[in-house]
Amino acid sequence: MTNSANTFKAIQLAQEQIADLESQLLKRKLRATESPCDTKSLVDGRELKAFCSNDYLGLANHSALIKALAEGGEKYGVGSGASHLISGHSIAHELLEKQLASFQEQHIPNARALFFSTGYLANLTAITGLARLAPEGSTSIYSAKLNHASLIDGVRLAAAQSKASVTLFDHTQMNALNELLKADQRSLKLIVIDGVFSMDGDLAPVKALLKLAEQYDALLLIDDAHGFGALGNHGHGILEQENICSDRIIYIGTLGKAAGVSGAFVCAQETFIEWLIQKGRPFIYSTATPPAIAHTLSKSLEIINGAEGSNRRAQLNQLIRIWQDEMHFSQWEKVPSCTAIQPVILGSNANALLAAKLLDEAGYWIPAIRPPTVPQGSSRLRITFSANHSAADLRQLIATLNAIEKQVINKATHE
Ligand SMILES: *Cc1c(COP(=O)(O)O)cnc(C)c1O
Repeated sequence: MTNSANTFKAIQLAQEQIADLESQLLKRKLRATESPCDTKSLVDGRELKAFCSNDYLGLANHSALIKALAEGGEKYGVGSGASHLISGHSIAHELLEKQLASFQEQHIPNARALFFSTGYLANLTAITGLARLAPEGSTSIYSAKLNHASLIDGVRLAAAQSKASVTLFDHTQMNALNELLKADQRSLKLIVIDGVFSMDGDLAPVKALLKLAEQYDALLLIDDAHGFGALGNHGHGILEQENICSDRIIYIGTLGKAAGVSGAFVCAQETFIEWLIQKGRPFIYSTATPPAIAHTLSKSLEIINGAEGSNRRAQLNQLIRIWQDEMHFSQWEKVPSCTAIQPVILGSNANALLAAKLLDEAGYWIPAIRPPTVPQGSSRLRITFSANHSAADLRQLIATLNAIEKQVINKATHE
């Protein structure tokens, strides 16, 4: 016998759970692309027009970055060989961290940056690490209800490791948050928020949050995964766009979205970064990202900060304006968003899946986003723009969406 009774039970449970997801139209499917990430994607042997990546500036397939990656490989090899505190920390990481800190130095006094292999890891490290600054049971975390899963998991881990108390808040109700903070007697308070909400595209009220953080002696952790590179005159992100400065800000940026490569960073005043290097478990116990990636990212930051980055952001903003002015649905709901994330709410899983299927047949790649990524009953198409899209590409999509809305509504009324 190779299969124990336990293993058999586990397989049975897995099969039942997966069947259950399928019956609720919640089963997800991987699709493998055969081409680089760009506005056109070769998938299942067909070329689709993609409006679903987070490659907002269109850098993921940029020739200068491809060259930088090859150069980085020549210079540093392909692997780092160890974690940062053993021997994996390269001069390429060090240079990148200096560049990243310089992007935020007008917004965070004494800014220092720490590079991570992913945003998920950066968020786990920052939240659990900061929660450990105070004795067990004396940290309060305030986390926005619509925060990204990696923030949610960071908060849950902090609750388990440090007995931090966790309170969820609605990021549109600052008075309610004010009342909660006012009544809080714990010694360390941490507010955790997405800079740009990843499934709605709206911005966090960071100025109001910072005011509360100052009033009640709290730290403010902002995850700017969708703002870094895309927001602000120089692409430095939401702190530049909102023109705020404080040594209470813990800024997280990710580098696999607008920056076009992969990785993430935490930027905060020097002392907090020093603490995370000492006590941030996911940072300490994980192999350093290949230095060639850091080398590539340095080039990406040069592009973001320079004239080409400005031009790419201007193109992105033009696309956002066209969408706001010209996309009119008869029944479907657009969400007010001034970013490259433009969701269309369809409600049921069935409608969202049908719209995504019709889009696929029309040559577009825009998957249906369903719970638990978004709240129940708010399944949607999450449409995203890249600076590599032209105005004509977008107008074609608008015409296609108008036709598809009619088809989906017709089908619903005939059932
Ligand atoms: C994508 C994303 C992350 C995770 O970053 P990765 O580098 O992809 O792990 C974290 N936060 C938000 C808001 C995101 O959208």
